[in-house]
Amino acid sequence: MTHVYAPPIYEDETIYSYVARLHIYWAETSHRRTANRWFGKSPINISQSLPIGVNYLAEATGYSTEKLLTHHTLYPLFAGFCTRPDKLKSTMLSSSGRDVANVSNIAQAGLRELGSSKYCPECLEQDKAIYGIAFWHLSHQMHGITCCPVHSICLRNIEYSHREFHLPPQVDVCPRQIASTHAVRLTYLISRFQFDYLYGQTDCLEEYEWEPMNLLHVKHQFKGHNVDMSLLMKTVSELSQVLFSSQILTQNVVHNLLHKPAYVCHPLKFIFLSYAIDQLPTKPIQAAVAQSKNVELHEQARLQCIRLLKTQKYSLREVARRVNRSVVFVKTIASQAQIPFEKRTQFITFDITARIEAAAREGASRRVLAAQEGISVAAVEQIIQSVKGLSEYRRKLRKSQRQESARLALQRAIQNNPSVPEMN
Ligand SMILES: [Zn+2]
Repeated sequence: MTHVYAPPIYEDETIYSYVARLHIYWAETSHRRTANRWFGKSPINISQSLPIGVNYLAEATGYSTEKLLTHHTLYPLFAGFCTRPDKLKSTMLSSSGRDVANVSNIAQAGLRELGSSKYCPECLEQDKAIYGIAFWHLSHQMHGITCCPVHSICLRNIEYSHREFHLPPQVDVCPRQIASTHAVRLTYLISRFQFDYLYGQTDCLEEYEWEPMNLLHVKHQFKGHNVDMSLLMKTVSELSQVLFSSQILTQNVVHNLLHKPAYVCHPLKFIFLSYAIDQLPTKPIQAAVAQSKNVELHEQARLQCIRLLKTQKYSLREVARRVNRSVVFVKTIASQAQIPFEKRTQFITFDITARIEAAAREGASRRVLAAQEGISVAAVEQIIQSVKGLSEYRRKLRKSQRQESARLALQRAIQNNPSVPEMN
């Protein structure tokens, strides 16, 4: 290969932008010739964020592939989120980029409308003042970045064919638009990820403080043991609409991002979910603890209920009493656990009433009667109350029973101690 002199690539410049400048400096009219000169092939698709043909360009310009790949493409960030970073690297180095969209998860992401070339009108003025030419900045190109990280104004979008090499407009006098707070914050977060991955923190992904599940724990966004999905999805949907005018996360993707540690997807989906979670309010810790405690108690009652129902020894009412819950609760648990239970209503027949009345006259305790007849203590009490004079009779009976037992105790005491003089 002929090694030709090439001017330096600027800091934060994309490879696409660099070749667009070379196209102008070489005063070439044919994009194919430019592609052949710098990539050894034409036509070739060179995207702003994940270009291919890096090896050839490195040799043609004298730069190291490592420098071009890590400082002038979004390879470091995408490598941190794909299953085969080595495959992504070799694809970007080669001149055949058929796989780059698949390997980097861009193809499956459904974010095509966010992938146009972007520039900041203020950076444009600044670059012209410093370098004499406006170029494409890498920090503007990531999907999801909608404003300039330096000037906080909205970026302009332009659709160019990736087979041709164009610089951004060199003049832009249209009014600047201040970016929304969400746009600025999300841009900052994406830039932070880019920076962190660039400087090799990709191997501590699980410990990353922006990991969605960690954030949910910090915010106490749980209903019992499960993530409170209703509020989360509402926030995700509203933010997505405000920022991108479209939905970039389905509930299924959110679920996978939260529950499948090995789930891979486009970095924007992960970062955007982290951002959305960060916008959720933090539930008060007491409420969260109380809530989880309630859930724990509910679970204990449920398990105890199932245990008691399985013995088939107790009525629904008795189970309810033992677990300190309503009969409806016990019925629900029995149905859920598919444990058969008697559905008949316990009627108190005349026979039962007669037996209870007779036994009550003998002084039997309400609790014993309730257990014998399989009805509640309250029902026994109700029957006793319904018979005129029975309650009073039982009170007198108990009183005389107590007097009798006291008399017997006294008699025993006198018999056991004959020396005690008899009182007159
Ligand atoms: Zn700017």
